[in-house]
Amino acid sequence: MAERLYLFDTTLRDGAQTPGVDFSVEDKILITQLVEKLGIDYVEGGWPGANPVDSEFFAKKRTKTSRFTAFGMTRRPGRSVSNDPGLAAVLDAAVDAVCLVAKSWDFHVKVALGTTLEENLTGIRDSVEAVVACGREAMIDCEHFFDGYKANREHALDCARTAYEAGARWVVLCDTNGGTLPHEISEIVSDVTNVVPGDHLGIHAHDDTCHAVANSLAAVEAGVRQIQGTLNGLGERCGNANLVTLVATLKLKPWYAERFEIGVSDAQLKQLTAISHHFDEILNRAPNRQAPYVGQSAFATKAGLHASAIVKDPTTYEHVDPELVGNRRRVLVSDQAGRSNLLAELERLGIGVQKDDPRLPRLLDEVKRREAEGYAYEAADASFELLARRLLGHVPAFFHVDSFRVMVERRHNAMGDLVTVSEAVVKVTVDGERLMSVGEGNGPVNALDMALRKDLGRFQAHIEDLELVDYKVRILNGGTSATTRVLIESRDGEGNRWSTVGVSPNIVDASFQALVDSITFKLLCSGVAASPEDRPRKLASV
Ligand SMILES: [Zn+2]
Repeated sequence: MAERLYLFDTTLRDGAQTPGVDFSVEDKILITQLVEKLGIDYVEGGWPGANPVDSEFFAKKRTKTSRFTAFGMTRRPGRSVSNDPGLAAVLDAAVDAVCLVAKSWDFHVKVALGTTLEENLTGIRDSVEAVVACGREAMIDCEHFFDGYKANREHALDCARTAYEAGARWVVLCDTNGGTLPHEISEIVSDVTNVVPGDHLGIHAHDDTCHAVANSLAAVEAGVRQIQGTLNGLGERCGNANLVTLVATLKLKPWYAERFEIGVSDAQLKQLTAISHHFDEILNRAPNRQAPYVGQSAFATKAGLHASAIVKDPTTYEHVDPELVGNRRRVLVSDQAGRSNLLAELERLGIGVQKDDPRLPRLLDEVKRREAEGYAYEAADASFELLARRLLGHVPAFFHVDSFRVMVERRHNAMGDLVTVSEAVVKVTVDGERLMSVGEGNGPVNALDMALRKDLGRFQAHIEDLELVDYKVRILNGGTSATTRVLIESRDGEGNRWSTVGVSPNIVDASFQALVDSITFKLLCSGVAASPEDRPRKLASV
């Protein structure tokens, strides 16, 4: 029978320690929903009483499926539990579980707490008993457990034993500095299981040697039954154990799937990629393309030889089926592209072409020619789709750009400060009608974007929710013949994302091409003005 393994999310507490990350109450509510959607057993919401955001969050939020957990510290040395306001705030929170951090490294007990090892153990016992007395599930995070074990094995084990004997449901072994290696985790956890049974032990790993996931798995193999981690491995320094990766491994790798059961269903696993990307959106950062299982490149291949093998039998080059985690196979169109790459990509886009279609070599030549000029279609899926559809089928001419002009002015304003202002004028024709728009921005591309999206006549309503989320410029070759490549990432109100590319000796012109592609792609996907043979195409919502 498969044994139950519990997952504990600390994105809102430990993940919030990441420099540059500052969750609002609304963010915390959204993230809690994501964690619950994934089927994680515990959500640690933060530290009630420690700051206004956490206090408000605990006052507002209740979880539906996950066990809602408050974080805090064991009682201060020399005080009683009832005389420790910090602990009282944690015990007062309306939660299912309370996780208290305790020192387990003798050095920290003596130097940081300035107390004796005996008093440290009494503090752990009193605090756990207080949590249990409040009717909450009790957990102890043994801070610096592995370093503490190496320095003073007896005391580290005493801390774990004391917490367990006082009634802690979970004793969590924390690799707080993140420097412990998998073989050490195995050895030490095995030793701890002589004192606390494995089904009461947890692991909390940090990624300072890129082993947080490996350390978590090593701990499970050695007996622990709870894993703490964060969404996308968010966390201070190099991050925490990545729950997204762990969920996929525990569900899909037979060694784990046969032995353990987790709270994540197969249907929830299919949401993994979407949840991971949604979380990055909340953080306002681009998803890591190389993230295991969920990254855009996780199931991508470029070489023509591999591509033809993948089309014949995907298992030859993929360790798991990408669909199981809600990701997809990507066969990249590139200067190495063979015909099978192209066919596979067209098939994915829903563009039906026969293998011997004479237009196919033409498209291949066109892709190669443009890539030689500097276009990068593997990073600009929407531009590729437009190119392919134009050559093979039909892309409606939604609008025609007659001309554009951009002006950049640097001048003193009324206050006497030096400012740079950009203004753009764009003339477009829509349904035979000539429209002119003026846009202002903090730079020429911004002004151009403003002007272009100001008035597209009857198409305007379809691009209202379009938003530029990323803009990248690369100078391709130096000297007088330098070419500029601009990559733009866009998204809409439904969370769809697409990338477009423009290439020109002039950066504004390259940006303009990418902008026009982005708008055209959005209109194509919205199905507006599509003729019967040009069925609206659904965006992949990831
Ligand atoms: Zn930590």
